[in-house]
Amino acid sequence: MSSSFTNRTGGVSTGAFASLNLALHVEDVEADVLHNRGILTALHGPIQYMNQVHGDHIEIVENLTENPVTADALITTNPEISLAVMVADCIPLLLKSDHVVAAVHVGRRGLVNQISVKVLAKMKEMGAGKITATIGPAICGRCYEVSQELHDEVVAALPLAKSLTREGKPALDIVTALRSTLDASGVQIKDEFVCTVESAEHFSYRRDGKTGRQVGLIQI
Ligand SMILES: [Zn+2]
Repeated sequence: MSSSFTNRTGGVSTGAFASLNLALHVEDVEADVLHNRGILTALHGPIQYMNQVHGDHIEIVENLTENPVTADALITTNPEISLAVMVADCIPLLLKSDHVVAAVHVGRRGLVNQISVKVLAKMKEMGAGKITATIGPAICGRCYEVSQELHDEVVAALPLAKSLTREGKPALDIVTALRSTLDASGVQIKDEFVCTVESAEHFSYRRDGKTGRQVGLIQI
């Protein structure tokens, strides 16, 4: 069983996408992205990616599919494949148990729609015993400035998301909110969090706009 997170280094993409961009939807050169994905496949074996849409659809993938899957969470019981969640500020959440693993995309909307709770329930339904979570690189509560209106709307649903930027402007702390959600579900958390906006090693959409995506990978 293994989980890992990529960063910007080790690929062939150039410019804003330098260098290990793994996303095909960000106007990078397709051949470069496919080359980068090949580098990861050589290291980890077959990888299932998904088209993430900030929804709460969970796809159970027992075999690699040719066509991309539109979902914000992938679950598998197949030890032969790795699941990938692509991010550049949203939280890559990896969930593992002995026989079931999941890769989950948790942004602001994913927090509000409780996708992590839904995935945990589905994993248990599929026979998962003890589940542990790994939280990867994402935007921190000091960097995620939002409008007062959006702040108030999210904080009404998730009080622990309440935050301020260093300048005292309304912000959201999606990582703290997710941690508390996982805690409440009795999940043990392994933290590999680092703020993507503040880390030159990571892609950050908030910081750069035009940029690539790193991934969280999990395999049984
Ligand atoms: Zn930060």
